[in-house]
Amino acid sequence: MDATLRRRGLLVERILDADLGAVVLGPGPDLRYLTGWDVHESERPTLLVVPGRGTPVLVVPALEAPRARADAELAGVDLRSYGETDDPLAAAVAAVPATGAVAVGDRLWSTTTLDLQAHLPGRVTERASRVTAPLRAVKDAEELVALREVAAAIDAVHRRVPGLLRPGRTEAEVAADLAALIREDHDEVAFVIVAAGPNAASPHHHPGARPLALGDAVVVDIGGPLRGYHSDMTRTYHLGPPPPGTVEAYAVLEAARDAGVAAVRPGVTAEEVDAAARAVMTAAGLGDAFLHRTGHGIGLEVHEPPWIVAGEGTVLAPGMTFSVEPGYYLAGRTGARIEDIVAVTADGVEVLNREPRGLRVVA
Ligand code: ZN
Ligand code: ZN
Ligand code: ZN
Repeated sequence: MDATLRRRGLLVERILDADLGAVVLGPGPDLRYLTGWDVHESERPTLLVVPGRGTPVLVVPALEAPRARADAELAGVDLRSYGETDDPLAAAVAAVPATGAVAVGDRLWSTTTLDLQAHLPGRVTERASRVTAPLRAVKDAEELVALREVAAAIDAVHRRVPGLLRPGRTEAEVAADLAALIREDHDEVAFVIVAAGPNAASPHHHPGARPLALGDAVVVDIGGPLRGYHSDMTRTYHLGPPPPGTVEAYAVLEAARDAGVAAVRPGVTAEEVDAAARAVMTAAGLGDAFLHRTGHGIGLEVHEPPWIVAGEGTVLAPGMTFSVEPGYYLAGRTGARIEDIVAVTADGVEVLNREPRGLRVVA
């Protein structure tokens, strides 16, 4: 059975369990997960309606119908198209059962959501993620293959980072080189963070005109999708000998990363993984410098559930994939982060990124 047909079946079970009438999705990761189709949102709505009972319908503007037929996996799905002067929502609304709450895609444009509400008064009351997020959080075998493959691709880019770092080159120049390397083995570039010296204290720093200088820590956080599945990997490099205290702080960071990864296994909650990494940082006096959650789920989106953060009670299950990425950020001075993607296995953890994690001094 093809993967998307199986996923649509699992979604219907969840729709019925949740007592929903239907789920209505626009373009985006949920739709791609359920049909394999990577289509962009536009002013002409594309909508997948999955009812609890009845036949799913994919509604597209007429000009997109050839592409939908070619690119979407539609076994058991009716394809309907509408013309330029038709009500674009009529076919979608007709596919929604007469009763039951309607859950709409979290990323559906509000224009479409408001029009749907007008057609279905009082019924559009839920977010689709209530039923799609738990499904997407547990990767199937072919998704895990894709995530391993893209992790290996970004490992290969990190192997080439030391050759790009030289005093006098700007963050932006290094970032442009990295973007070109990422494109070699990814569909596209999702993000490139090169944060040097004091800029390393900003976790999501945008690479700029600052030239690299001897003594800089250089945080390199890069990623992109391959066949839709994302990589996201951080290593911290050091240009020339690190100043006093850096080696010690970085050793704490590595220990925190190791403790986070070691905590990963089925049955543990997401927040316990965060606590395991954070405890190491806090014990060494770096708790306040660890500004963000320990990690995030990853798949068709760079950031998706489960969130590895205090208060997140999600119980880890085999097939969940997420980052473990402790960091420390000392404003005006320096920063560092280590980020690996991990997968929960039947009895523990698989680390998808393989490159060494120690502080790499680039002479
Ligand atoms: Zn981030
Ligand atoms: Zn990252
Ligand atoms: Zn990340």
